[in-house]
Amino acid sequence: MLGSVGHLDWLRRLPVHIAELGGINDSFVQSALDELLSNGRVSVDTGETLFLDADLVDVMLLGHAIKKSRFENEVYFNSNLHVNPTNICVLACRFCAFRRGPRAADAYALDVEEYISRIRPFSSRIDEVHSVGGLHPEWGVDHYVELISTAKKTFPHLSMKCLTAVEIKHLSQIEGVEISQILSRLIDAGLTSLPGGGAEILDDDVRKVICNGKESSDEYLEIHRTAHRLGLPTNSTMLFGTIETASQRVNHLDRIRSLQDQTDGFQCFVPYPFLPDRTRLPQAQHSTGSETLRTISISRIMLDNVPHIKAYRMNIGDHLSALALNAGADDVDGTVGHEEIMHEAGSETSVEDDLDRLSRLIEDAGGIPVRRSTTYDRFVIHRRRPPSDDERWVSLPVADMI
Ligand code: SF4
Repeated sequence: MLGSVGHLDWLRRLPVHIAELGGINDSFVQSALDELLSNGRVSVDTGETLFLDADLVDVMLLGHAIKKSRFENEVYFNSNLHVNPTNICVLACRFCAFRRGPRAADAYALDVEEYISRIRPFSSRIDEVHSVGGLHPEWGVDHYVELISTAKKTFPHLSMKCLTAVEIKHLSQIEGVEISQILSRLIDAGLTSLPGGGAEILDDDVRKVICNGKESSDEYLEIHRTAHRLGLPTNSTMLFGTIETASQRVNHLDRIRSLQDQTDGFQCFVPYPFLPDRTRLPQAQHSTGSETLRTISISRIMLDNVPHIKAYRMNIGDHLSALALNAGADDVDGTVGHEEIMHEAGSETSVEDDLDRLSRLIEDAGGIPVRRSTTYDRFVIHRRRPPSDDERWVSLPVADMI
């Protein structure tokens, strides 16, 4: 079983994995399991009880059992590089420590040559460039077409996962054209997929406080719907631990799965907590480690139709990511190489792009490290060379390992 194929029959296997993990004692988690087994879906009301009332260990157990039912012990990662083309942004979201005004001393905007030179040192050992950034007041779609097409020409093997929904909306406003026209230009240039950033919490009352001026909840979903219609796979995210309620988190998950019912275009969901450094949101609740694990597990439990749940280690760190791999997450991002957005906000996670180190994190959590492509259609197992008493690692075709 590998990747996005094996997970399809997961509900049938779920009771076996629940039993193997010791069974469930908490009545709220048992209700969620009963709903899954009878309807294939956990209701919004029950989802809310998982946040407010349920025992954490049992919530994590159910999340992990679903993960095992879909993917056994496999844990996916990609070998990627984060390149942020600019930190100049016309908005000023209150949770964002990354953006700069155009006149700030440390504002930057990469031209094509600089963008390519950021990728070049990593190009032989990565599969993907992840590029998101600020809403530059002067860049139109041509600039991004040039960045993406030049990167693809220079490094044809790379997947380009670029531009969040709000960046797509910004380009459509600057150009005065439909979202679909912007996306089509970018797809023609070589765009592989959209990252999920900018979802924050899909509730416009929350958005008004934490990211006023950003795309609305409906616009976020509509941009992803358009991408899916054009055949462009996307991810989705949830930024929690600002001012939202449990009910707003559950509604966020419900809105993602409702769109997924219609389009089947989301590949991966990435829940991550607000990091407070250098931002302007004093009323934020902040998430503890336990709350973060609970939210990752509930994401796995609620999103019955989204294949992958990611532990975003740039945000939650290596230690919590390792625990998340036993609480519902089946994917870790990634080798990364370079990262600014979370580190500006206080992340101390290492960006050392060491494949062996990441694989060890996965193996020590009980997983089998599987290096995947951006679109989860190519897989290579990367693990200690058997016998495993030395520290050498090897990448092997899946067929050689199963
Ligand atoms: S989150 Fe994005 S849109 Fe908001 S201020 Fe930061 S860079 Fe700009």
